[in-house]
Amino acid sequence: MTLALYPGTFDPVTNGHLDIANRSASLFDQLIIGIYQSPPKRLLFTIEERVDLMTRAVASLPNVQVRPYTGLTVTFARSLGAQAIVRGLRMSSDFEREFEMALMNKKLAPDLELVCLMASLEFQFLSSTLLKEVAELDTELKEFVPPHVAAALRRKFHTGG
Ligand code: ADP
Repeated sequence: MTLALYPGTFDPVTNGHLDIANRSASLFDQLIIGIYQSPPKRLLFTIEERVDLMTRAVASLPNVQVRPYTGLTVTFARSLGAQAIVRGLRMSSDFEREFEMALMNKKLAPDLELVCLMASLEFQFLSSTLLKEVAELDTELKEFVPPHVAAALRRKFHTGG
């Protein structure tokens, strides 16, 4: 059985993330989406909220599970028995950072393979950071996120939830 870990902050999950999750779910027997609890950046959503938003977003994918984690991603991947870590690559922003992390991870866990999927054309410029900036301006979000994520963003920015 092939098992892969798709790790990230997912603050919040976007259609770009879901595109990668969908495509990975058809490549591997099982996919675990790992939500990193406390990255060194300011977050809008709590770990419970990020897990809940992602869980609802992938509810229709039977071989996908969502789990929070702390510590090193490779340690979490090993504890799951994963053979691969999946990441999404956008043309402009991700390559150098992913390459650096991949080399470090390869040192720490030589047996774990990194699988990078190219972001689809329509999601190349979609990031959680940009999404939060436009969400604050009360714009239409349905192109970028599932409806329940758009509702959660509206609550955060416009009703103080
Ligand atoms: P991290 O803080 O680990 O970069 P993110 O939640 O920002 O976490 O992203 C998780 C993963 O999804 C990363 O591999 C990132 O490159 C990828 N990703 C982010 N946005 C997109 C997108 N629009 N299309 C495809 N992959 C994406």
